Amino acid sequence: MKRKLTSRFIRYAKINTRSKHDETGCPSTTVQFDLAHMLVDELKSLGITELSVDEHCYVVGKMASNLPEDHIAYGKTPVIGFLAHLDTAPDMSGENVRPQVIEKYDGKDIVIGFDESKKEKIIIKLDENPELGKCVGHTVITTDGTTLLGADDKAGITAIVTALEHIKNEQDFLHGDIYFCFNPDEEIGRGTACFPLEKFPVDFAYTIDGGSAGELNKETFNADSAKITVYGRDIHPGTAKDIMINANRVASYIIEQLPRDLSPEKTSGHEGFIHPTEMNASTGEACLKMILRDFEEKGLQANKVILEEIVSRAKKEFPGCSIDLEIQHSYRNMLLKLDQNPQVLKRLEDAVKKAQVDYQWLPIRGGTDGAELTRRGIPTPNIFTGGQNFHGKTEWLSIDVLMKTTEIIKHLVRV
Ligand SMILES: [Zn+2]
Repeated sequence: MKRKLTSRFIRYAKINTRSKHDETGCPSTTVQFDLAHMLVDELKSLGITELSVDEHCYVVGKMASNLPEDHIAYGKTPVIGFLAHLDTAPDMSGENVRPQVIEKYDGKDIVIGFDESKKEKIIIKLDENPELGKCVGHTVITTDGTTLLGADDKAGITAIVTALEHIKNEQDFLHGDIYFCFNPDEEIGRGTACFPLEKFPVDFAYTIDGGSAGELNKETFNADSAKITVYGRDIHPGTAKDIMINANRVASYIIEQLPRDLSPEKTSGHEGFIHPTEMNASTGEACLKMILRDFEEKGLQANKVILEEIVSRAKKEFPGCSIDLEIQHSYRNMLLKLDQNPQVLKRLEDAVKKAQVDYQWLPIRGGTDGAELTRRGIPTPNIFTGGQNFHGKTEWLSIDVLMKTTEIIKHLVRV
């Protein structure tokens, strides 16, 4: 299985599927179809025939139950779905990915390439990668230092396809209906924007997307975004006295007023934050974009109040300037709905134990497609893949951990 996972993952990783922010199309980039079509062909060649890719680049398919009618579990087995996303992060190039395979990793720092601009080696350091220390003897895959790897989330796709292949080929492997979906645009927060819910009639599902060995997720942030527009007054600086209202200064003031401890760089675990992500400013007008996060709804509301107070202080500080604050809903923590479906979580815990992995429920300090699906009625927790350092050149993946993920998928559906 290890060799199969390795070669399959490398094949997927080499296909550029980078998504793009601020595109209105669904999918955001057409390159994602390249992998989608390839997956359809591959799964068909494996004998899985009920699948298709739609115009929005969602690959959805089904492996029908093989339970005999006289089986005790016939008609009582839950219908389970699995999801992984096709796209890779917009932050970093995903073109010409050249995966490097390290067999029997020796437990030392890994030199993956050379940074010409900084004139220094690109190194995956053991002391910065505690998970790496647990992977001695594993097959580890890295980049050559020029792109991201795309283990996020081609590792997830690899595990699902390989599990389906095994389930299909293993004699006496009894299972109920299994659905799978490979979706575009997760990385830009639009993974479920055009989700064909009617083609995915499952009782519950699991996303296979990221994380250390044993990491399971049932919790995400509550998330909103804020857009602050500052209207100043521009005039020639030579005659500006008592007339100019410099939007640059107002915008800087607003950012400076944000509590520094309430930032992604100062928080971890269950702590929330307000994070300014973008600032476009000139003397006459400025636009600030921020994201607001908290695991508790009331924490998110408190962050909103902080922002409102800062804006009203700025208005007093810079008389005559006008400031618009617009808050938009992004997504909500899936914990509440998942806790109402304990059998979905219990089934996963049992499968992980059968694969002999120690598990931990950890909060996702971000979103997941599962959060939106959960909101729409399909409870969808997340399962680890063994990938690390996502969205960057030092991204790496342990194939041995991915092998466990693949086993877990099989345990989840085996009757
Ligand atoms: Zn991902």
